[in-house]
Amino acid sequence: MPDKDFYPNIAIDGPAGAGKSSVTREVSRRLKLRYLDTGAMYRAITLKLLQESVDITDLDLIAKTLENTDIKLNDQEEVFLDGKPVTAEIRSSEVNRLVSPVSAIPIVRRRLVEMQQAIAKESEGIVMEGRDIASKVMPDADFKFFLDASIEERARRRRKEQLDKGIEMTEQEVIAEIKNRDIIDSGREDSPLTRVWDAVVIDTTNMAFDAVVDKIVGLVRG
Ligand code: C5P
Repeated sequence: MPDKDFYPNIAIDGPAGAGKSSVTREVSRRLKLRYLDTGAMYRAITLKLLQESVDITDLDLIAKTLENTDIKLNDQEEVFLDGKPVTAEIRSSEVNRLVSPVSAIPIVRRRLVEMQQAIAKESEGIVMEGRDIASKVMPDADFKFFLDASIEERARRRRKEQLDKGIEMTEQEVIAEIKNRDIIDSGREDSPLTRVWDAVVIDTTNMAFDAVVDKIVGLVRG
């Protein structure tokens, strides 16, 4: 199928460190589709709550804050919170610590899912990555993938990612952070991390990056 006539919606879900972001970015580049990192949106709202010292049990205040928050992502993967660039700040350890508890709050999810669905609607095909994309945001996606990897491999990748940003963490610290996020992301009541029955599961533990991308692009192109 020629690329110009081909505008699929592709959902890529999986836990932290499974390789979603780098894979999704490359898949979107190869298929010439828009890329949306929904985790960045949950990170941006978490940063706002931190900046405004909002107690995350104060649901009224969270609702008001959501009304007064503007989150934008551009094609260069830059993230803007109320017009200000926050691309690096949303990856800080404070945000890492609080993002899963914030993402478990139903009013936060409702608002961000609405935004994600609106972005999908206005796009001519999209590759969207997250935890609930196939199960909640785009249940009618043309292609659904679930990326996974062993905890050791996920920790190794996360640690390298942090190191590239100048943040040094021990293996134990990274494993603890990932396990904690897994427990909250998979155990929450509202749209937990889900592997839907019709997703293609790819265990990336022993796969080269290009092999994962080739597999997804190959299945999409058919
Ligand atoms: O993908 P990333 O690790 O940046 O996501 C950060 C956090 O945002 C996840 O641990 C999860 O708590 C939350 N998230 C979510 N639903 C999504 C994407 C991310 O709950 N669709």
